Amino acid sequence: MPISIHVPSISMADRGQLMLTLQYIKHSPNFAIYYPNLDGLTIHVGSLLPTIALPTSGQISWNPNQGLQVISDTGILGVQSPAMGLVHEIAHVIFGHNEAQATAFETRVARDLGEPTRANYGSIGNEVRVYNSTQHTDNGEWKSYEQSGATKTSGNYDGSTNAPNMGWGYIPPPPGAPKGWTFPSSPFGMDSNGNLHDASYWQIPPGGQKSVPNNVDTEILEFYLTQEDPAPIAALPIEPTDAQHVAPQIIGLPELAPY
Ligand SMILES: [Zn+2]
Repeated sequence: MPISIHVPSISMADRGQLMLTLQYIKHSPNFAIYYPNLDGLTIHVGSLLPTIALPTSGQISWNPNQGLQVISDTGILGVQSPAMGLVHEIAHVIFGHNEAQATAFETRVARDLGEPTRANYGSIGNEVRVYNSTQHTDNGEWKSYEQSGATKTSGNYDGSTNAPNMGWGYIPPPPGAPKGWTFPSSPFGMDSNGNLHDASYWQIPPGGQKSVPNNVDTEILEFYLTQEDPAPIAALPIEPTDAQHVAPQIIGLPELAPY
């Protein structure tokens, strides 16, 4: 069954980033099992928007250019992609307002995708602007995912908020492209009501890649999801006014292996 996401007033460039990110995060088994939960959501996309969620109404605002410095439980600094910001907000829609739960889910997906993890919700540094919504650091090296499925690398992370320009990661729309333009040979399509359809969910690609959850991870996640926490809504993983931890200047050291 295809899924459909309402994306009001989205630009060609932002649509490209949303499709790229959806394609990317489906590679995480821990995310893929929840992918059908995106059906019926409304996602506002824009490079000037905050990355936030309104869980009860199923609405997300996502900035596809806003990466985030994160600090692991061993004090290693890395940069999570904007795609992880979307994963975090989707977690709020699926599981509710609790930040520990959303961060626990984010962490499992980050490990699947080779992205750095944060020790807890507050273990963040500053915003890092990137063009490609999947751009992140992996063991101290810049990486991004391309629409072709290839992974791109671009040198070592220097610990700053300056990211190398790794391109957009997708084939840009041709001049005068129609409103419904999508990637060539893409499973994504868009109707005139601003709904992005992904017909790929039930397709198992050649090679037999399946979205089978890791049982251990699922059990841990269920543990987190059963914890009650009456904390107020603070669905802002990338929030400049959050209490910001001073990022330790550990530069050039690889992040520890996540497992
Ligand atoms: Zn949150």
